[in-house]
Amino acid sequence: MHQDLDSRIADKRADLIALTQELIRIPTLNPPGENYRAICDYLQTRLARHGFDCQLLRATGAPGDSDRYPRWNILARREGPRPGDCVHFNSHTDVVEVGHGWTRDPFGGEIDGDRIYGRGSCDMKGGLAASIIAAEAFLETHPDFAGAIEISGTADEESGGYGGVAWMAEQGYFNPDRVQHVIIPEPLGHDRICLGHRGGWWAEIETRGEIAHGSMPFLGDCAVRHMGAVLDAFERELFPAMAQRFTEMPVIPDGARQSTMNINSIHGGMAEQDVDYTGLPACCVPDSCRIVIDRRYLIEERFDDVKGEVVALLEGLKAERPRFEYEIRDINRITPSMTERDAPVVTTVAEAIRDVFGREAAYVASPGSYDQKHIDRIGRLKNCIAYGPGVLELAHKPDEWVGIEDMSSSTRVMGRVLQRLLLPQ
Ligand SMILES: [Zn+2]
Repeated sequence: MHQDLDSRIADKRADLIALTQELIRIPTLNPPGENYRAICDYLQTRLARHGFDCQLLRATGAPGDSDRYPRWNILARREGPRPGDCVHFNSHTDVVEVGHGWTRDPFGGEIDGDRIYGRGSCDMKGGLAASIIAAEAFLETHPDFAGAIEISGTADEESGGYGGVAWMAEQGYFNPDRVQHVIIPEPLGHDRICLGHRGGWWAEIETRGEIAHGSMPFLGDCAVRHMGAVLDAFERELFPAMAQRFTEMPVIPDGARQSTMNINSIHGGMAEQDVDYTGLPACCVPDSCRIVIDRRYLIEERFDDVKGEVVALLEGLKAERPRFEYEIRDINRITPSMTERDAPVVTTVAEAIRDVFGREAAYVASPGSYDQKHIDRIGRLKNCIAYGPGVLELAHKPDEWVGIEDMSSSTRVMGRVLQRLLLPQ
């Protein structure tokens, strides 16, 4: 049984390569969210040919959706002749900006040896292609399967997923009564199972002051100095406290196994001038200073405590520092998510990895987040992991590539997973 499927997948090697190249050649840059409709049309044509019922779904009204940049998603479903579970492969179709430093055409799908190059090759069009080939090979080998296979291509993962998986989950497409197992083929490596990700909280903190002439700063109140006191409190109290907190989640790399915080930006005082302005700055005491923080928190931490810790520091400054005024505004919040190791999708993928490679799967968790958060929190579906080909460290980098052997191996694992979940024993 395995041999039939494996040889079918081997026969499709050229198709796997061509499919990956063609997906790379549709430049689905996000932001702003280009060519979502084009990639959905392409996937619809392909999947309809293999017997999938396809729905194109526009996330009307979602953040980022506009007539110029509509948020199109595709949901393809192939029902088996007998009842059973639904296995869903979810891939995001968007890619991040190209950036500098490329030596290959970022949208050419160039092949060199075992590698296919291009923006999105690894994150995650290679994974999308692998899941499609796995499903098609499985359908040809086992037309009598039980249950259903779904493949979705969704928008906006790189900008939070609100026009993609979050919207689809709100519409009920990830309800556990219609979907039972979800695999997200993000580039975690062909023998690793990603159980989930840390949480995140982005916020803007603003300190206030009073504008005055810069030669007489005592007549005003400097918002930048107030912010200096905030950063100092972070250095003295917050960062050391966070460094003491470790998670039981197998987050990679090791440095992300503790609570972390990045200060994304800081700005105080007069707005920066255009490059064509050649004059001097005016001398004013700044009356506002803003920072944006990106706090990544652990599944063992509670959001209220994470925010409360920052607010307590700010309140402490307010109590001891004359004229200290601040405001804090939430920008985004990501719930941490972790699927249990004994969940059916986890044990099944682990068995499939053992079948294909003859070794045990490694379990990892992601330092940043991906669409699992929406499937977990909005869809209330806990049986979800990330599993797919590609080297995570290449994501978003110049000369991004995906390995052809790596994709083939993952395709075999995905095919094995379908056999285990959709063929009644
Ligand atoms: Zn991704």
